[in-house]
Amino acid sequence: MAGRHFLHVPGPTNIPDRVLAAMHRPSEDHRSPIFPELTKPIFAAAKKLFKTEAGQVFLFPATGTGSWEAVLTNTLAAGDRVLAPRYGQFSHLWIELARKHGLDVVVQEEPWGTGASPEHIHDALRADTGHAIRAVLVVHNETATGVTSDVAAVRRAIDAAGHPALLFVDGVSAIGSIDFRMDEWGVDGAITGSQKGLMMPAGLGICCLSPKALEAGQAAKSRNPLRRAFFDIEDMQRSNKDGYFPYTPSLPMLYGMREALAILFEEGLENVFARHRYLAGGVRAAVLEGWKLPLCAKEPKWYSDTVSAVMVPAGTNGAAVISRAFSRYNLSLGSGLGEVAGKLFRIGHLGDLNELMCLAAVAGAEMAMLDVGIRVEPGSGVRAAESFYRAQGEAAAKLVAE
Ligand SMILES: *Cc1c(COP(=O)(O)O)cnc(C)c1O
Repeated sequence: MAGRHFLHVPGPTNIPDRVLAAMHRPSEDHRSPIFPELTKPIFAAAKKLFKTEAGQVFLFPATGTGSWEAVLTNTLAAGDRVLAPRYGQFSHLWIELARKHGLDVVVQEEPWGTGASPEHIHDALRADTGHAIRAVLVVHNETATGVTSDVAAVRRAIDAAGHPALLFVDGVSAIGSIDFRMDEWGVDGAITGSQKGLMMPAGLGICCLSPKALEAGQAAKSRNPLRRAFFDIEDMQRSNKDGYFPYTPSLPMLYGMREALAILFEEGLENVFARHRYLAGGVRAAVLEGWKLPLCAKEPKWYSDTVSAVMVPAGTNGAAVISRAFSRYNLSLGSGLGEVAGKLFRIGHLGDLNELMCLAAVAGAEMAMLDVGIRVEPGSGVRAAESFYRAQGEAAAKLVAE
């Protein structure tokens, strides 16, 4: 098809030309004396991304899933109990991975379309008088349902219960797009990947551990530690302290990450977050005011600024919309996963995006819905999004200029 493809899945996201160009490099010696000049600033910048001074960043040749594993295996022992609310496919998959490693996962079921409940977490920890629960696993932005949870409130709930559990947060579709504050929120293990807010291809599993998590990892050794092999952070620490890796790192990914972080800090992290909120606002206006369709997120407090999951009317299939959008309009939308398969389609609005790109996604989704017999009012979504951007745009433009 002529023209550009419109990639509006919530990851992988569009790769900025600057990142693509930065990645296009010949191979070089990853043990050379000048190699640390590349890597050390990347580790320093990554700490700013997580908003941590005390934490330690690890870069694995992996994806978000590998980061889930790295954080758990380097801090816990077999049979350890963890508490995990489940409210979408990604919280579900993290729970499954934890179980495969032999962790005793206490699952808190929350309705899909909602997120982590600080009250329920507080009550479960309060009841755990013997402090058997070693960690709480929370997905910051549940990509499957377009729900953002309040991580700061989860930390307050843990503290209010007077419980020593570690707080592990999956920030794969949040970090670099939605505000995340590792130190301030007392997060002990934070996880992301390269292909979402960081605007790179998939291929880096990025995690950050607090001093408390690192200590827990040492303490776990005297129990029956989870197997640490490829993802053993001690090998990483030994090499990383001098700017090297224990095995061959992916050089294009490192060059890409350096550039992606530079782009984010040039715009300013707070401006990046504001832009995501603003762009998401236009998409939500299209869905709620234009098409008059519900979002999967049940209340405004859960709305995600990186992905909107649009519920299609009963008797219609979200998968048909996605298929039509792809084959007819060269637009990729995200599908319904797990419990919500077929019931929705998702518009990803994170990464290197502007208003007109979001309007294209809205227009394509609108036409695809009409084509498969979903009777939204033609033009209504685009009109609502345009109105939102025109009304809010001056304020947004001013913020970016400051
Ligand atoms: C994409 C995603 C993952 C999985 O990441 P992979 O890189 O595909 O392994 C995990 N959690 C969330 C919230 C995600 O959005």
